[in-house]
Amino acid sequence: MATCEHSNLPGGIRREITSWIGGRRVDPSGATFDVVDPATGAKISRLHVATKDDVDSAVASSKAAFAEWSRTTPSQRAAVLREMASIIDRRSEEISRLEALDTGTPIAQLRGKVIPRAADNFRYFAETVLQLEGRTYPLGNTHLNYTLRKPVGVAALITPWNMPFMLGSWKVAPALAYGCTAILKPPELAPLTSAIMAEIGTEAGLPAGVLNVVQGDGPKVGNALVEHPNVDVISFTGSTQTGRTIVSNSPTTSLKRLSMELGGKAPLIVFEDADYERALDAAVFGMFLGNGQRCNASTRIMAERSIYRRFVDDFARRAEALKVGCTFDETTRIGPLISANHLSKVQDYAEAGLADGARLVTGGGPPEQLPDRNASGFYFAPTVFADADNSMRIVREEIFGPVACILPFSGEEEALSLANDSDYGLSAFVWTGDLEKGHRMAGNLEVGMVWLNTQIARHLPAPFGGAKQSGFGREGGEYSLETYTNVRNVCLSLGNHTIPRW
Ligand code: NAD
Repeated sequence: MATCEHSNLPGGIRREITSWIGGRRVDPSGATFDVVDPATGAKISRLHVATKDDVDSAVASSKAAFAEWSRTTPSQRAAVLREMASIIDRRSEEISRLEALDTGTPIAQLRGKVIPRAADNFRYFAETVLQLEGRTYPLGNTHLNYTLRKPVGVAALITPWNMPFMLGSWKVAPALAYGCTAILKPPELAPLTSAIMAEIGTEAGLPAGVLNVVQGDGPKVGNALVEHPNVDVISFTGSTQTGRTIVSNSPTTSLKRLSMELGGKAPLIVFEDADYERALDAAVFGMFLGNGQRCNASTRIMAERSIYRRFVDDFARRAEALKVGCTFDETTRIGPLISANHLSKVQDYAEAGLADGARLVTGGGPPEQLPDRNASGFYFAPTVFADADNSMRIVREEIFGPVACILPFSGEEEALSLANDSDYGLSAFVWTGDLEKGHRMAGNLEVGMVWLNTQIARHLPAPFGGAKQSGFGREGGEYSLETYTNVRNVCLSLGNHTIPRW
């Protein structure tokens, strides 16, 4: 395994991470904690936690900026968003390296797909806002009703650590495009790249206060936004547990709009009539991409009994062959997990799998060998449990690490009932050569998104979001309109209709 190479990073690593409010970096004050490189355990930066006053001033600045920003024309907003996309393109390598350093996601995955997708989000919503449509409802010959889309107000955007820059862009771009002002609350475990998003906005021409960033932990800084009376909409991506806390802490007095993108435990169902090799490729990729730390990771792999043994063996062999290594090595498939705490949580799940009677086929702990420099990194080997069933914690709970569970099933009905017997309902993957069966499955799976005979393929106009405990609300394309805008109806008189004279 190659040694981790952290020497050649761009000059963009900020040793002091602070909030960005009203168009400028906030002077450090208050509590701090260390931001750590997951590959080595070494401190890379110091995060300054926003104070209550900082949050108040971010909300005040966003509210003040809303008055003008909400009245700019779509083409004015689109121009700024396009410029943000160009700056992200230009700084893509730097952002990819910072995010690899911060999150442990292998550089090739960030550079190739995730960070360019952030630029695409800005570009996409810049075009979408130019195509805003309304409806008309004529009332006889006397009136015409027509609808307008109006921005909701100040949006608090709370993001998780697994792809913070891209997921931040996925919220910031539509919020700003549709005329909201935004306060981004990045994950405290991986704040580096979100810290530069507001700088990029300012460089692109965003007026002060249109995009603020408040840094710090969830229970204090995130919650201060959730409880703030002048925040109008909360768009949250994170765990189901935090989602529940946010829903219950959101004050009824200010009736905020909520969009909740929460956890997942996606089944990947392989029928015996599937294209076996393609299904195997998709299962391995879908499980281990992003070190298995993805809401859509296909962690509940279900193989039909006639192909089950072969599938388990082949899947385990492929998992064993994945290169676990340095974040900056182009050939690394699995990098370190985000933190020591998270590593120990994943380890606990591996032990629970054994205790519950699942068969450990490979992995189950840190990899046997790590280069010196990575010895204190938070690595966990790709792990495969077979003969799992729905009574086990590893099947029921979201592990958010490189731990796959494989279950056998017989026939469509059993596949459905096993897959639907879950608290989660974010997404599902189905592999079959029988499209009628695939279509039936897509109709009957209790999830927000189904991928049929494909790995995760995202198209920006398509809706993204979950069912059951995976959340509510949809984002993506015109669906983001529901989060960030209100529909206003205007009723226009077309002439001298009769008005009662009282
Ligand atoms: P998390 O819920 O611990 O934290 C997410 C964010 O919420 C962080 O910024 C955190 O500081 C903040 N937060 C925590 N407590 C808060 C509170 N009381 N009030 C306000 N904000 C609070 O999640 P995580 O560990 O960062 O990320 C992993 C989780 O995110 C997984 O469950 C994963 O499935 C989920 N996720 C979901 C999607 C999706 O689109 N559905 C995408 C990526 C990740």
